[in-house]
Amino acid sequence: MCVCTGKCPGFSQMDIWDFINRVRIELPVEYGFIHPQLCEEDGDRFLNDYLKAHRKVVIGACAPNMQRKMFRDAFAQAGLDVNKDLTSIDVRDMTTDQAVEKVSAAIAKMEDIK
Ligand code: SF4
Repeated sequence: MCVCTGKCPGFSQMDIWDFINRVRIELPVEYGFIHPQLCEEDGDRFLNDYLKAHRKVVIGACAPNMQRKMFRDAFAQAGLDVNKDLTSIDVRDMTTDQAVEKVSAAIAKMEDIK
């Protein structure tokens, strides 16, 4: 999850710690974590390191088209295609339950197309 510095009102309806705990405990993921601002320079550095493992990545954050634009270079540098290798989910303006459900549905869809 990217939480947009933690001050964006788009995430005010959810408890981000409850959200990420539920994702890592209830859903079939290797792990979950929160980054404060993935589209900043340190976010690029983080993605450059993280993407070297070539894992499937699900990012709950802002609008998918914004995510694809902002993360395109980091994915390309790792030899990945942001349009194929990133599952981007808009979790803004949602409650914790709604956001967990949206991530769960996206992961189920990924498993369907394996
Ligand atoms: S990637 Fe999206 S959610 Fe994260 S800091 Fe940037 S604009 Fe905000």
